Amino acid sequence: MSHLEGEPEGRERIVLDEQEAQELSALYDQEPATEVLSWALDRFHPHMAVSAGGGAEGMAIVDMAWRINPGVRVFTLDTGRMPQETYDLFDAVRERYGIEVEVIFPHHEEVEEMVRGYGVNLMYKSVDLRLRCCDVRKVLPMNRYLANMDGWVAGLRRSQWKTRERVHKVEVDPAHGGIVKVNPLADWTKEQVWSYIHENDVPYHSLLDQGYTSIGCAPCTRPVEAGEDDRAGRWWWETDTEKECGIHCSVQVILGEGKPGQDAKPSVAAGDAGTAASGGGTAD
Ligand code: SF4
Repeated sequence: MSHLEGEPEGRERIVLDEQEAQELSALYDQEPATEVLSWALDRFHPHMAVSAGGGAEGMAIVDMAWRINPGVRVFTLDTGRMPQETYDLFDAVRERYGIEVEVIFPHHEEVEEMVRGYGVNLMYKSVDLRLRCCDVRKVLPMNRYLANMDGWVAGLRRSQWKTRERVHKVEVDPAHGGIVKVNPLADWTKEQVWSYIHENDVPYHSLLDQGYTSIGCAPCTRPVEAGEDDRAGRWWWETDTEKECGIHCSVQVILGEGKPGQDAKPSVAAGDAGTAASGGGTAD
């Protein structure tokens, strides 16, 4: 899907070695978001795309990246369980920026087999089945999409959730072949994100005006109550998991079966490899 016209089949991907990754991480961690994005677009476009799932952070990044390079690639996962408002948002993105958003779908055979075996609402039956649903509808399509990319951009912020506290602006993503993952807003606060959105009139998800603080699939996302964490509305019936879908950290880490730097292999921060769960979610 990410193979480009006119590009040789079997193109060798850019994969940073550990030393370069650590140097870049140290170099860019103090840089403003636009600098980080400019560097990433210069170095990796068109083999890099911004991941947007409907969250405010992703939309701020789309706007920022588009101002740097109007040809920026943007992708989103359509799990088949998205709220209508998410489709409305991506139509608004197409209209506002002229970006042909790359919509990534799961393989229908995998969805059919899963639903035949466990029912369409299997996510409520157990954590394992919830993760299986996330795997089929999110993780595997994402793996396929990123298989020929050199990097991707995510909207993770350190203050979003405990699994994101040690996110770096430039990371190596071993779950996707060691390509680069860029988190330009790693050190932003929620207030900074919303200031950017309002100051630049960026389109945003209408559910964010209705008590939702994180956007995901309809059956797995609810508005949060006053005083709750921003991710409390995600898989709210689960009380002892990391509230992640596996896109950014492995299922073993979500289930607590391994710790970063031990057997399980989460996405690790360049310069902090083996110690940080840089987890998080995308359509997340
Ligand atoms: Fe399935 Fe819910 Fe995961 Fe979406 S968030 S893929 S519906 S379990």
